[in-house]
Amino acid sequence: MTITPAQHPGATSHEIELADEFRARLDRIHARISDACQRSGRPTSDVKLVGVTKTVSVERIGAAIEAGVRLFGENRVQEAAPKIAELAKVSPDVSLRWHFIGHLQSNKARRAVELFETIHSVDSFKLAERLDRAAAELNRRLPIMLEVNLAGEASKSGLSPESLIQTVTQVAGLLQTDLIGLMTVPPYLENAEDVRPYFRRLKQLRDEASSIAGDACLELSMGMSHDYEVAIEEGATFVRIGTALFGSRQQ
Ligand SMILES: *Cc1c(COP(=O)(O)O)cnc(C)c1O
Repeated sequence: MTITPAQHPGATSHEIELADEFRARLDRIHARISDACQRSGRPTSDVKLVGVTKTVSVERIGAAIEAGVRLFGENRVQEAAPKIAELAKVSPDVSLRWHFIGHLQSNKARRAVELFETIHSVDSFKLAERLDRAAAELNRRLPIMLEVNLAGEASKSGLSPESLIQTVTQVAGLLQTDLIGLMTVPPYLENAEDVRPYFRRLKQLRDEASSIAGDACLELSMGMSHDYEVAIEEGATFVRIGTALFGSRQQ
């Protein structure tokens, strides 16, 4: 865990360096979020940064926490479980929030509901039902988003735009689950500007969804390291940022 000398006299120079590095990166990201909000006439408080920690070590996540990040995203239950436990131990005084953002198999639904505050990436009604049952067993409400595969890419999960509204209607009938919005991972395009139509489309679908599911269905989880500014201009409320915060991932 990286801690500044004032708070912890035992912090090593490596830890202090790492904390400085993360503060600088986070400052840059916040500045760009704020500029994108300004360009689109939105308050900065509209946009929540999710630090994506897949493949990232507990030490580096600790440095991000030290820099002020509190909300994290993981896309594998097995990888997340030990990290979440370890970070709860090394920083018991900060309350961290974990969101699930990857493909979730139905048989891991219960574990996911134990570990995560919110699931961004629900891609079938069957999965939503499993999550709803798990939430009932664990006596909690579960906010979820539906993932939409806008370009119909075979390599990605997510509902087709055509099947979305039917699923929204079904999910709206679940008892423990609150549909709070939509999520997408659009195609990777070199020029982030070319991704804009996908973000715009997700927002239109979100408006349709909220006309069915109600006013609580307002979130748009869209935008990653290379295109989050465009996503914010198109209405993103959660941006999921990995490499811009943690550096490039070892595969
Ligand atoms: C890895 C990942 C991200 C973060 O990607 P970067 O390009 O590193 O910012 C965001 N969303 C999902 C679903 C991911 O799997």
